[in-house]
Amino acid sequence: MMRQFELVERVKAYDPTADEDAINRAYVYAMKMHGSQKRASGDQYFSHPIEVAGLLTRYRLDSAAIITALLHDTVEDTSATLEEIGSLFGPEIVRLVDGVTKLTRLELQSDHTKQAENLRKLVLAMSEDIRVLLVKLADRTHNMRTLHFMGNPDKRRRIALETMEIYAPLAERIGMHEIKAELEDLAFAELHPEARDSLMTRLGYLREQGGDLITRIQAELRKNLAESDIKAEVSGREKTPFSIWQKMQKKNVGFEQLSDIMAFRIVVDSIEDCYRALGVIHSRYPMVPDRFKDYISTPKPNGYRSIHTGVFGPERHRIEVQIRTEDMHEEAELGVAAHWSYKDKGKSAGPRTNGANPVDGRGYRWLRELLDIMEHASNPEEFLEHTKLEMFQDQVFCFSPKGDLINLPRGATPVDFAYAVHSQIGDTCVGSKINGRMMPLRTQLKNGDQVEIVTSKAQTPNPTWERFVVTGKARARIRRFIRLQQRAQYLDLGRAILTRAFRQEGYELTDKALDGVLKIFKAATPDDLMAIVGEGIHTGNEIVAAVYPELKTKPANPDGMPTIGKRKTNKEKVSGVPIKGLISGMAVHFAGCCHPLPGDRIVGIVATGKGVTIHTIDCENLEQYIDTPERWLDLSWDDTEGEVHVGRVMLLVVNEPGILVAITTVIAKNMGNITNLKITNRSQEFFDLIIDIEVRDVKHLTNIIAALRATPSINSVERAKN
Ligand code: MN
Repeated sequence: MMRQFELVERVKAYDPTADEDAINRAYVYAMKMHGSQKRASGDQYFSHPIEVAGLLTRYRLDSAAIITALLHDTVEDTSATLEEIGSLFGPEIVRLVDGVTKLTRLELQSDHTKQAENLRKLVLAMSEDIRVLLVKLADRTHNMRTLHFMGNPDKRRRIALETMEIYAPLAERIGMHEIKAELEDLAFAELHPEARDSLMTRLGYLREQGGDLITRIQAELRKNLAESDIKAEVSGREKTPFSIWQKMQKKNVGFEQLSDIMAFRIVVDSIEDCYRALGVIHSRYPMVPDRFKDYISTPKPNGYRSIHTGVFGPERHRIEVQIRTEDMHEEAELGVAAHWSYKDKGKSAGPRTNGANPVDGRGYRWLRELLDIMEHASNPEEFLEHTKLEMFQDQVFCFSPKGDLINLPRGATPVDFAYAVHSQIGDTCVGSKINGRMMPLRTQLKNGDQVEIVTSKAQTPNPTWERFVVTGKARARIRRFIRLQQRAQYLDLGRAILTRAFRQEGYELTDKALDGVLKIFKAATPDDLMAIVGEGIHTGNEIVAAVYPELKTKPANPDGMPTIGKRKTNKEKVSGVPIKGLISGMAVHFAGCCHPLPGDRIVGIVATGKGVTIHTIDCENLEQYIDTPERWLDLSWDDTEGEVHVGRVMLLVVNEPGILVAITTVIAKNMGNITNLKITNRSQEFFDLIIDIEVRDVKHLTNIIAALRATPSINSVERAKN
């Protein structure tokens, strides 16, 4: 465990003006508060905050961040209070400790919603002060290092997953490559222990085969550069098991082909030397296609600058080479911290901060974008989905006609570009010119493309865009638009269904009637409830049954749809069943599986005590009665004038706004009455729809089906049997 004076010395080494007294007081305070608490490893609990603080000295963080690291678990795990910390260490520290504590509280939650909520809070906290994220990342790093001591495997897995999905990408976003690599590798060891073990074995074998390969290659690179009079530091390393594994997955290469496992770094004095060194490397060794990336002329969004290339290097080994200056190297190692941690005055604040207060997270474009997505996502899960999407992707760099650089994830389209420039431009874009030529909006952009967006005030987001956009921002905006539009449709449809369902039982639909059952159906307002019905989450009959529990509910139906012909099963109606061949007085049910309609060929199945169930002759369920022919009744329809029956149709429909209205209009025009509607298997592109329609007979239903088939965006329509 690091001693008090060691920690202070480390901080003083890079920041002679550090508040030594405050660090000492924080050290003692934390030690006193944690007392005899133990970690799962058996270590003194207090060793944890010390390690976290120690990790941060590597990034030359200011006293406030170091003190926050020391205190970060006191409020959550000891009797310490924020008030007390405030009186001892002042408002800045309280704010930081409070930020970290809030995140810790959320962390202990397991379910997905809470995880998403955690990310939301994290984004908010770090947008206030990016140091909260730095302390949190150091905290997570130490917890991951000691993860194997934790007894509960589910919890270990959960923490590892969260690390992989959220913290590692965040570390990368702020340019802390070392922490990112370590977090990934530790999480990898927990999530895929076998894969990691076999990779380690293979690496060990290659190492044995190659001898001191890294040293030899390093020496040869150094010699080549020296011959061209380039002063350079050359270092080499094996890539981490996780980064190798990731590459194997991405490129789908097998274990035996695994050769690209070494990376070399060349650090030179000037940008000019970077390109000269690159020239030397490329003239001596064959280039691996597609591996060259110039992040000096176009830095990554996190500010990262370097030249990357891949070559068949010394001894024909495939190697990766990174070339950069000392300054770039420092930035790459320290990430965000390089721009504002204590350092010699006179260096620039870096391109990302625009001279604003560097701890203010809103100075970072990507963080502003996350906040923006957050504002427009309908729920935390959606936010999580968008941000995960965003954080994991490779980048392409495109330009506006004015020459502004826009970074986008690989696979991005002009629509993504438009939204990245401004939400309004995204919402109203109608076309795009790529490098001067009109191109479809779904075209995938390439590095260096110049993109011009054509807009029209009359345009609104097109839901089909959602199928090809890749940025969280575009997706969130489009979904929001669809949601608003869909809701209006669902509301209309739900109101119609409910009005009918209420009338059927002799009541009028009023907001007041719905008020009493809002809670049951998790709706906030009567409108909400109607929209829920319109969306097919609950049926009209379910709502009526809840509002009037005194109405005896009919036998439960597994899919929540009403059984057809319900009203005709009422005792007093039995005599009116328009079917020939029945013994009078017998109870009659229409089968829920095949929904017989006048015009269908039908049979009756007699069940003792339950009367007769009527099926269509081709109903698959009849098979089970084959061995009991005595139960079959040969029936036919009588005059059915004026009677209505419920038929069921199944549709496969393109998921686009307006489609529900189109469907209901077609049905209404053909004199059909929708009694219920249920959406199943909703995907981005399609959904399945089950609709119950009151019709006169089978011919009537066939007409409606034909009309639906003629409607655009309806993929298929079938009469539902079973
Ligand atoms: Mn902690």
